[in-house]
Amino acid sequence: MPRKTIPPIGLVLIVFAAAAQQGQTHRVNEAVLKNAGKSGGEWLTYGLTLGETRYSPLTQLNVSNVGRLGLAWSYDVGPGGGNQEATPLVFNGTIYGITNWSVVFAVDARTGKERWRWDPEVNQEAVFPKICCGVVNRGLAIYQNLIIAPIIDGRLEALDADTGKVVWESRVAYPRDNYTITMAPRIAKGNVIIGVAGGEYPVRGFFAAFDANTGHFEWKFYTVPGDPSKPFENPALAKAATTWSGEWWKYGGGAPVWDGMAYDPDADLLYVGTGNGGPWPEQLRQSKGKDNLFVCSILAVKPETGELKWYYQPVPGDSWDYDSVQQLVLADLTIKGRPRKVIMQAGKDGFYYVLDRITGKFISGQPFTTVTWAKGLDELTGRPIINPEAHYGSATVTLSPASSGAHNWSPMSFNPMTGLAYIPVSAGTTQDYTVEPDFVYKPGSKNLGILRGPAPGDTRITLPAIGPAPPPPQQRGILLAWDPVKQKERWHAIGGASMGGGTVSTASNLVFQVIPDGRLVAYRADTGEKLLDIKTGLRGGMGPPITYSIDGKQYLSLMGGSGPFKPAIGTNFGPGPNPSLPKLLTYALDGSKP
Ligand code: CA
Repeated sequence: MPRKTIPPIGLVLIVFAAAAQQGQTHRVNEAVLKNAGKSGGEWLTYGLTLGETRYSPLTQLNVSNVGRLGLAWSYDVGPGGGNQEATPLVFNGTIYGITNWSVVFAVDARTGKERWRWDPEVNQEAVFPKICCGVVNRGLAIYQNLIIAPIIDGRLEALDADTGKVVWESRVAYPRDNYTITMAPRIAKGNVIIGVAGGEYPVRGFFAAFDANTGHFEWKFYTVPGDPSKPFENPALAKAATTWSGEWWKYGGGAPVWDGMAYDPDADLLYVGTGNGGPWPEQLRQSKGKDNLFVCSILAVKPETGELKWYYQPVPGDSWDYDSVQQLVLADLTIKGRPRKVIMQAGKDGFYYVLDRITGKFISGQPFTTVTWAKGLDELTGRPIINPEAHYGSATVTLSPASSGAHNWSPMSFNPMTGLAYIPVSAGTTQDYTVEPDFVYKPGSKNLGILRGPAPGDTRITLPAIGPAPPPPQQRGILLAWDPVKQKERWHAIGGASMGGGTVSTASNLVFQVIPDGRLVAYRADTGEKLLDIKTGLRGGMGPPITYSIDGKQYLSLMGGSGPFKPAIGTNFGPGPNPSLPKLLTYALDGSKP
């Protein structure tokens, strides 16, 4: 193609927006991604915007008409074999999705008619034993005209958006090393950034960058230090090694990267959340009393090089599977009269964190649900004041939240008009922790190092709680509207969970929520007044909602359903007793009655 003179960026954007409006094809580059989500027509990156707000400017669906929402079309996603955790993307009039075993599909966003399907043909029997938490993928990335798909077996594939044909393939990691991939890739500075799951197995966590045009490997950032008899990969890891002791590297160390990332193109910082230490109890990592960097941390790195610029560790010395991988949301807030560029996270550990995203400095953090592992956060540093008894040993300690998290992968959304974050929360959960007394390291297997249930004949130790009291049983899944400036609840509604479904919020004062039981609901974003409650017909395995607009019509889409598992493969994180086949459902005004 001949080179053309480069028009000013503003004009490029207008042209792209117009092309998308007319259904012509356009390509995704840095300028398009920087403005992703600003027109609301398409959904080009996992969190809608690079700041992962899941806030749409669309207003056709509003408080007065959302009750007329009905099914526009439905697409059978496949036979299932796991939950649908993915956020679909919308690009050039097409919805791109990923389902169980990393099968990718493209359908017409107006009609649901299939355009192509691509099966990476994962060796299911070989890979399944290395998957901790269900045969799932959370999403795709788009760059230029490429659909970039993470394969659960450790491959990264770029597919032609028009045909589904493979353009390039790279290898991120191998299941034989206990790695899998479940997160959605992100794009920053022309690189695809992807991390690995596997923190319950003996792994050394990392995230890596590949050239988005070619798949060429660019850099890798290990999230925990390796064998200190060998050179450390970078100065950050040399420093991190001082926060470990014994022979931790023989068990991997953990800190996988399996969900939250965000990118600030102005600061040119990529933000990454890291998971739990492995094995779970700090003493089995031979690191009692040590922080174990960069386990359970939020990292800011340069996307061209992976160089670490700052870190904040919500859970030093993690022993509770309190992965700090939850959604990272960027916002501009006025706090104590001062404009702040912040990064926010509603943690598995029950605290809502607000940090300065340029410096990493802690601004505030408060419990958004019942918390007993810590007494609070140090006001200056944000370091948790951990209850000493929470560092359990042979006696059973019951802690809140449970390891499934107050908030987990279910996406929240942040609406700058209401100033509220809409968080799917599992409130008031508890879990018993006891160190496995005769722990023997098992290479290639899960190595949690905790007893299932309390120690025989033991009594449970419980600790004083902070934060909101646990709601009554049966009402512990909630949608929480949280004010991150005041660090307090504005309203909450019953229904929702830390895992399953999720939210999207719009400029017309709406928040949509998919509930794990298969319902699609909508609320007034400012007050929590319920405006819509649709039974989708799906009975679990739910993913988050997205919204987009084509030819002047606003749509709302979601995936759900798990399908039956193959008995030969296994049933971890399996469906309920009555699984529904996975579907992609799309709703619009005056669709057929649900
Ligand atoms: Ca974990």
